[in-house]
Amino acid sequence: MRKIVLCFVLAMFMLSWSGVQAATTSVSGAKPAADLPRIASAQTAGEPSAGRLAELSQVRWANHIDAATGITTMRLVMDVSSPVTASSTVVDGSTPRLVLTIKGMLPGKSVTDLTFDGKVAKKVAFDASGQDTKVVIDLPQLLEDTDYKVSTLPSDAEAQRPFRVVVDIKQPAPPKTAPAVPALKKTGTKSNSRTIELSQVRWANHKDAVTGTNSLRLVMDVSAPVKASSVIVSTPTPRLVLTVKGTTPGKAVKNLTFDGKIVEKIAFDVSGQDTEVVFDLPHMLEDADYKVSTLPSDAKAKRPFRVVVDIKQPEPLPDFSFTPGLKNKLIVLDPGHGGSDPGAVGPSQYYEKTATLAVAQNVKQLLEKAGAKVIMTRQDDRDVYGSNATDVDELKARTTVANNRKADVFVSIHANSFTDRAVGGTSTYYYQKTLYDSMLARSLQTSMIEAGGLQDRRANPANFYVIKRTRMPAALVELAFISNPQEEKLLRSPEFQQKMSQGIVRGLERFFEQAAKLN
Ligand SMILES: [Zn+2]
Repeated sequence: MRKIVLCFVLAMFMLSWSGVQAATTSVSGAKPAADLPRIASAQTAGEPSAGRLAELSQVRWANHIDAATGITTMRLVMDVSSPVTASSTVVDGSTPRLVLTIKGMLPGKSVTDLTFDGKVAKKVAFDASGQDTKVVIDLPQLLEDTDYKVSTLPSDAEAQRPFRVVVDIKQPAPPKTAPAVPALKKTGTKSNSRTIELSQVRWANHKDAVTGTNSLRLVMDVSAPVKASSVIVSTPTPRLVLTVKGTTPGKAVKNLTFDGKIVEKIAFDVSGQDTEVVFDLPHMLEDADYKVSTLPSDAKAKRPFRVVVDIKQPEPLPDFSFTPGLKNKLIVLDPGHGGSDPGAVGPSQYYEKTATLAVAQNVKQLLEKAGAKVIMTRQDDRDVYGSNATDVDELKARTTVANNRKADVFVSIHANSFTDRAVGGTSTYYYQKTLYDSMLARSLQTSMIEAGGLQDRRANPANFYVIKRTRMPAALVELAFISNPQEEKLLRSPEFQQKMSQGIVRGLERFFEQAAKLN
């Protein structure tokens, strides 16, 4: 998986050039970081722990009271084993929260949740969320954007400090309810005048007479023109999140529940100054499967300004039922990279694309011997889509092979890579879109470890395109680390290639055995 490596390298460059990076959109006029007490950092981040490329290894915190203003600031410092990016958002709710997402990093075993006195924060919880760490900070009251700051710090070899993510939170100002003070100027503040009401919600199902495609249309009336943005979220469950800027949901607006064919649930939440409309979806949507538009008011037809969301019903995944054995199974093998894309390159210049093809060819032979039918996304050293394709087109071409042929399973074969050459091992990734994806990944992982004997980096959930967009159980295997000189040597050797191929075949056999028991 070359792209992951590039991201790390890129992050490293960005850090070395910019020093401290503010990760929040609005950087506060709050206390500069230098005002805060130095926090001892006797420990540096440890080795990346088994099974993870990157780890949130340690958490420290300290309170600082400004001598002049008496305002308390809490600083939370998280050591990370490599450069990361972090994003944050303040969530309003029964418990106001600051939610920080640290990308591509999981919390280490020694990281435990923290409880505080509640002046600045009540609790900090660290959760794994897909490939990311979610740091959820429970707050005594809602924070303004200027009351907190998230930054990432580069490592500092001299001071023995690792890469860090730092969160500073100011103690909230006392409630502004000073009575009888000439508060008139304050009452008509911008936040009141700016608020537009999302006053009413309607919806309807529509079936296209020609294509037979069902779609759901949600219409939201708003009292003035607004802007809306949307994003598709894949974990932990597929969601479409629509943000209607500068609005609050009116009292008449209630959450909606549907039959789950197109949408399961729609929730309307206040998020800062905006309304967040969260659509729980039964499956992931393609971008082409939904549309958000805003409509002007129409005095003649007595229609207000509107935000309209159209969502098409996704074609459901077929029901799978498997029989034991490899005979007559249709298996798509996807040797990673190829042609203009070498994939990762080892220290002695061995290419990922060469190893993945050699192993896929072995697996094909072994599977065919066992009576399975095999389709390869590529048979030789070439791009599947074409040499000038975008990354997505290239990946889509690979999933299309499997989707069009309605394969039983899809296995993408890769070699891993990391900046630290000492890191090694075998891992497998899955995206649980059917009942069977994690079962497939675990079966492959177990059998590859038995066959190859490298460090077990486990079967892990991931968001990779090819395992997500294939419409059958799929897994992506990382045979070994091509960046590790010993493992590069193994990847080159026909003996190791054959061992890992046998591992993959045994893993597939194991998978069909287990899957058949679920019928
Ligand atoms: Zn790869």
